[in-house]
Amino acid sequence: MLAVVIHAPKDLRIDILPEAAPAANEVRVRIASGGICGSDLHYYHHGGFGTVRVKQPMTLGHEISGTIAALGSDVAHLRVGQRVAVNPSRACGKCEYCLSGQRNQCLDMRFMGSAMRFPHMQGGFAESVTVDARQAVPIPDDLTLAEAAMAEPLSVCLHAARQAGSLFGKRVLITGCGPIGALAVLVAKNSGAAELVVTDIASQPLEMAKRLGATLVVNPAKEPDALKPYAADKGKFDVLIEATGNEAAIRSALELVRPGGTVVQLGLGGDVTLPMNLIVAKELNLKGTFRFDPEFELAVQLMARKVIDVRPVITAEIPFTDAIDAFELATDRNKAMKVQLTF
Ligand code: ZN
Repeated sequence: MLAVVIHAPKDLRIDILPEAAPAANEVRVRIASGGICGSDLHYYHHGGFGTVRVKQPMTLGHEISGTIAALGSDVAHLRVGQRVAVNPSRACGKCEYCLSGQRNQCLDMRFMGSAMRFPHMQGGFAESVTVDARQAVPIPDDLTLAEAAMAEPLSVCLHAARQAGSLFGKRVLITGCGPIGALAVLVAKNSGAAELVVTDIASQPLEMAKRLGATLVVNPAKEPDALKPYAADKGKFDVLIEATGNEAAIRSALELVRPGGTVVQLGLGGDVTLPMNLIVAKELNLKGTFRFDPEFELAVQLMARKVIDVRPVITAEIPFTDAIDAFELATDRNKAMKVQLTF
């Protein structure tokens, strides 16, 4: 089978890899769609991010969906031909975090398309993958496989929203409107946010945010005073969902959060310096958010029930054999939101 494999920065190849037969508890999934994530782009452009580096050829991709092609001997609840969203996380189920309901913190996590461990976990941009049967989540007939491949990034945003507590009736600020910020807009809107302000320094993402339900969109580079009213009286936002990881963006956003408000840090940006006096004096609740766990099934359910419609966020579907074009397109924030490979 063919797969999209990163060898080094800017060295992305279509390689021929062996196809593994499923073990007793596994299924083989013929991949249909694979969304390109920010981390895939980091591997492509820089060979990794932070301390994580590609040290051996690695198939990219962890936002995938497809059709079951083969069943392991112990798998009774799925059938060949069934359409599924593939959960890229395979927690060990045995460590203290798995046993205490924090499986996203698993000490032995096998997450597809990640160079965090060595040998690296191979990803899902391949004609087929073999996964634990529990990773294959069936989807209804009226959900497309492209939508199903959005279950992973949507679950990241559902987990982030959970960190914030109830958003109902709240004034919410989302900084950064890439694909994750855009999905966070959908989640916040459908969670009943009363006011939903979105910032970004590119104009196309802000157009998207407006279309998805933002009540106000602001480009701070072009309209430096537009957020001033929200800085009055120590700040007006109940919740900040920070999706840039950029120090300047975080600093200016923290000025706008009301005392006792909650900051969910979703964007990764390496080490940044935070204004601790402001965080202390305003008694802000600063929360991290990392991947997801039960939110994956929830994401599939919310899309299946048409509560959340992710289709506008998918802006291009490109054959995987043109992966380099697709990765370059996904890098251009004014031309693309979520770019998916088709297999
Ligand atoms: Zn574990």
